[in-house]
Amino acid sequence: MAIKSVFIVGAGLMGSGIAQVCAQSGINVILHDISQEAVKKGLDTIAWSVSKFFEKGKITEDKDTVLNRISATDDFSKAADSDLAIEVVFENIELKQAIFKKLDEFCQPNAIIASNTSAIPITELASITKRPEKVLGIHFFSPVPMMPVAEVIRGISTTEETILSGIDFVKSIGKEPIRVESDVAGFLLNRINFPSTIEAIHLVEQGIGTVEDIDKGMKLAFGRRMGPFETGDMVGLDVTYGALMACYEETKDQRFYPPQLLRRKVKAGHLGRKTGEGWYEYNENGTRKA
Ligand code: NAD
Repeated sequence: MAIKSVFIVGAGLMGSGIAQVCAQSGINVILHDISQEAVKKGLDTIAWSVSKFFEKGKITEDKDTVLNRISATDDFSKAADSDLAIEVVFENIELKQAIFKKLDEFCQPNAIIASNTSAIPITELASITKRPEKVLGIHFFSPVPMMPVAEVIRGISTTEETILSGIDFVKSIGKEPIRVESDVAGFLLNRINFPSTIEAIHLVEQGIGTVEDIDKGMKLAFGRRMGPFETGDMVGLDVTYGALMACYEETKDQRFYPPQLLRRKVKAGHLGRKTGEGWYEYNENGTRKA
């Protein structure tokens, strides 16, 4: 099934990024959040980012043309107008299940429902709906407009037809799909990445290396664009914590348990760029303090 319209629940960091790449690819988007103010915040982020892409010549359509493909709403019944709904709310299973229940109620029977969850098993969300065969994971990476990849994840009941629609959709918005054949916690790429991030935090806790040096070294030695702490501040320490706990609770594998320093920072509200402090400190305009 070719996806021509998408309903996105959650206009935060990831939801606004997904909305942007869809609109830039000619897909109509309905962007939903709990309030008009929350959606407006997402739209402002998209407007800024699309302008930057246009100025740098990365897209040929101007801001207004792209933004005209996105409508904002706090009304769930608008989900009926979409071929695909993507849930992009906080990493909390009860909240996500509540959203899935609503999407199942309002989406057309043939519509596909996806989650951008970092670590919650797709089957646990699909089982809430009456269409588990049409539920899959589409896991984007941050920042969505820049990262050229998305995982397409099979839940236990997801049909091959749904997976192929997901793959076609991901390609249609200019991303490379990575197939994940079972919804193990953390899926494929985070399953590899999380233990390395945890190890980096332990090394800082033990005073063996600094945040700055580890980031610098990981970029220079392994060709990464960002170090694990820079990535952590962009993603949000609370988001990383939530994803690690989901992996830990699912597997009971100590390798995924969030380190103490991460737990304390989350409790202190040092969540990264969005709060002005995480692994690094930030100025009002979002630049890093020297
Ligand atoms: P975020 O906090 O930036 O945005 C979440 C949005 O969901 C907020 O705008 C919030 O108002 C909205 N929301 C909350 N409850 C809602 C409801 N009942 N109805 C409608 N909207 C509601 O979070 P994010 O970083 O965009 O993460 C969203 C999801 O994407 C999480 O599951 C996260 O694990 C996953 N994810 C995040 C990243 C990342 O780098 N941040 C990467 C991959 C996947």
